[in-house]
Amino acid sequence: MTLVITGAALATVDDAGTEHASGYVVVEGDRIADLGAGPAPDIAGASIVDGSGCLVTPGMVNTHHHLYQWATRGMSQTCTLFEWLVELYPIWGRLDADVTHAAASGGLARLALTGCTTVADHHYVFPADGGDQAAAVVSAAGRIGTRLHLVRGSMDRGESGGGLPPDNIVEDTDAALAATEEAIAKYHDPAGNARVRVAVGPCSPFSVTERLMIGAAELARRVDVRMHTHLAETTDEDEQCRREFGCTPVEYAERLGWLGDDVWLAHAVHLTPDAVGTIAASGTGTAHCPTSNARIGVGVAPVADLLAAGVPVGLGVDGAASNESGGLAEEMHQALLFARQRGGPTSLSPRQALWMATAGGARCLGRSDDLGSLAVGKLADLAMWRLDGLTHAGIDDPVAALVLGAPAPLELLLVGGEPVVRANQLTTVDDRVLARELAAAHRKLVDR
Ligand SMILES: [Zn+2]
Repeated sequence: MTLVITGAALATVDDAGTEHASGYVVVEGDRIADLGAGPAPDIAGASIVDGSGCLVTPGMVNTHHHLYQWATRGMSQTCTLFEWLVELYPIWGRLDADVTHAAASGGLARLALTGCTTVADHHYVFPADGGDQAAAVVSAAGRIGTRLHLVRGSMDRGESGGGLPPDNIVEDTDAALAATEEAIAKYHDPAGNARVRVAVGPCSPFSVTERLMIGAAELARRVDVRMHTHLAETTDEDEQCRREFGCTPVEYAERLGWLGDDVWLAHAVHLTPDAVGTIAASGTGTAHCPTSNARIGVGVAPVADLLAAGVPVGLGVDGAASNESGGLAEEMHQALLFARQRGGPTSLSPRQALWMATAGGARCLGRSDDLGSLAVGKLADLAMWRLDGLTHAGIDDPVAALVLGAPAPLELLLVGGEPVVRANQLTTVDDRVLARELAAAHRKLVDR
């Protein structure tokens, strides 16, 4: 099966920043066989897609999410992070596999419709009677058609241990580690074209013991999977860390073996200049979540400083309970605006924002060999954006149109060469069905 996109602008996001005002992409099977400027070569029997008026970019990579939170959007609207968590934990404690499957399906659909082909989902709530939460997320990704990096999260530090979550939604330390190892054995695929990979993800310093952080790192490095956690999100966390452990969150992570080129950290908002250097020197990635950070009012991450230091920064929508929109293309726009409010108009360019959404995200997830840019031999995960409608026609530069302009309609989204979105509609599932499921999942959680 060969598919040829013709007559589209291309932003490849390769290391040289190659772009073509009009070019083509040839897809054979699940990989890119050819691409370049000008008219496409004639290939007998190929299926032709007219890309005129469109921009083709790599499929986007979401580096931080909590898909289950699609069932609890619009709540706790004026809380700090800790207040927001304390209000929502008891509701999340009622999660069952059906609710999580509906929430994850809706969240993944929204991501696909905003150009995202690979999603890291940090799932850390495993109620004792909540059914098979990991299976619910994995099956939702298969249903919608996106790649999934399931971050098997965990919490073992409830209120009685000085943590923030109620005791009834935390796991026993050894049980959490065993369940994480089980999820890796069951779902992790190390192949280059993997649809599902698994990472370890103890939730955060204020909900996880040191023993779990250290044990999770040992597990990840023993079985060669990546590591992810929340870090340095709020000043409250910073103060608690200094009070309790006598160091900053980044020093705490370093002490526990939680920095390295196999680690990516969610948020990284409150960083000292030394911490930026430490993160960069260790090869650690960060997931920048501008909308969620703004919704909770925690501050603006020093993204320009991190990028300048060479840190692989990706973008994340974060859980939908702190970002009701949950769309990835929108995060490029937000990232650019917030970086400029912090550091002025030269602090982040539209192309740097696109890089974070694609190549930067792929580096965070350890997928740079196969994802994150358009290149011969890479997986055919790509997004084709329509830019000739009223909201974008005439914008001087297609990348600026995509990043600075309104969210663009998505003409085509391919994951491994397979169409998941056509003409702004999912090809895999009827979105009206997903909407009904989401509404029912929300009622099931809040009406109980
Ligand atoms: Zn998060």
